[in-house]
Amino acid sequence: MTETPDFPEPGILFRDLSTLFADPEGLPAVGAALVGRHAEPSPFGAVDAVVGIEARGFVLGTAAAMAGGLGMLAVRKAGKLPGEVLTESYALEYGTASLEVHPETLPTGSRVLLVDDVLATGGTVAATVRLMQRAGWVVAGISVVIELDGLGGRAAVAAETDAPVHPLLVL
Ligand code: AMP
Repeated sequence: MTETPDFPEPGILFRDLSTLFADPEGLPAVGAALVGRHAEPSPFGAVDAVVGIEARGFVLGTAAAMAGGLGMLAVRKAGKLPGEVLTESYALEYGTASLEVHPETLPTGSRVLLVDDVLATGGTVAATVRLMQRAGWVVAGISVVIELDGLGGRAAVAAETDAPVHPLLVL
């Protein structure tokens, strides 16, 4: 991991996992950890699909899905998916954005594991939880590589779901 101060805005210490993504042993190992393969039984119960949040969640979500023998559903930033989509807006640690999903991609009642790189204020994950609920899916858990302590991410997620949140690292 690299840490870059004042990126993309003054006051933000940006954590970048590019070196982990490029590591042939690191990527599958972190995928296995994210999907709960380190714990028996899995902290997330039964999981039908992994949901990766654009964009670094796609890399990590795919690694987690492959480790768990599951498929990966991409939650996209606004304007990337054609046709009818569900949309949820949210506040980032910097700026605002919207996320979208096709509601028909998984059967109603599917249990999904949300995967992203960093949990900061929790706005991104909370919006994704709302999207999953509106699509008719059950959030089995939230798995992130890094939880940034003291930014309220846990509380923001807990306001939407009582699904377990598992960071591999708390900073
Ligand atoms: P938040 O919605 O505040 O929890 O922010 C989480 C999203 O923003 C994740 O998708 C991260 O990729 C990104 N993010 C927020 N803060 C940071 C940070 N300090 N370093 C790297 N990525 C971050």
